[in-house]
Amino acid sequence: MRHAIVAGNWKMHKTYAETHKLLDELIEKLPAGKEVEVIVAPTFTNLGSAVAHLEGTNIQVAAQNMHQAEGGAFTGEISAQMLKSVGVDIVILGHSERRQYFHETDAILADKVNTALRHDMRVIYCIGEELKDRESKQYLNVIFNQLKDGLFHLSKEQWKNIVIAYEPVWAIGTGMTASPDQAQEIHAFIRQEIERKYDKTVAENTSILYGGSVKASNAKEIFSKPDVDGGLIGGAALIADDFCTIVECC
Ligand code: 13P
Repeated sequence: MRHAIVAGNWKMHKTYAETHKLLDELIEKLPAGKEVEVIVAPTFTNLGSAVAHLEGTNIQVAAQNMHQAEGGAFTGEISAQMLKSVGVDIVILGHSERRQYFHETDAILADKVNTALRHDMRVIYCIGEELKDRESKQYLNVIFNQLKDGLFHLSKEQWKNIVIAYEPVWAIGTGMTASPDQAQEIHAFIRQEIERKYDKTVAENTSILYGGSVKASNAKEIFSKPDVDGGLIGGAALIADDFCTIVECC
């Protein structure tokens, strides 16, 4: 069901001790009584301890990636079953850094989505255009193709476990946030394409998050847009006060 979500993608930051310090700060400072689902995605080595640490709180834990195979000779990889076994049932898939640096294609990502859903996990699926796509005015095509090739093979029922994160690549870690109107344009486009492929119910029930240089100072305006259901936060998620302010804005 569509709802407000603020998720922190911690990327390759925070040691074990730093992770627990940040979690403690979040437990202490996160606003109470907000109707917002709060998710943090620490690195693999700290997932199990983060789940244990957050027991009894409203903060959920997600993984930043996962392999598509059930298991086997894939040195260095992590399976859905392994994540589930430490209490993680949310996974971020398709982040542009995974696409760019680790060559994850839409076809690989579609496989990963299938595996995650088979294990009853929720998926935060990232899509977004590069600067060149925006400059050549191809960005809607790029976004449509990412949706189609990564997610449009799913059934209506399976969409209950899909959250979309629109993250324009040119806005990630650059300080160049999409304007609230630019974000709204794409979020509305994504919702319209989901409706065209499935129906209004699926489209209206899907949470669509914005990511890319969301800060305490710009979150409120971005989140005020009708098709923006929350955010996937990078840098600002590493500072408890900033992340808590962003949650407060949602
Ligand atoms: P920044 O908030 O640092 O731009 O990162 C966004 C992001 O990539 C979240 O997944």
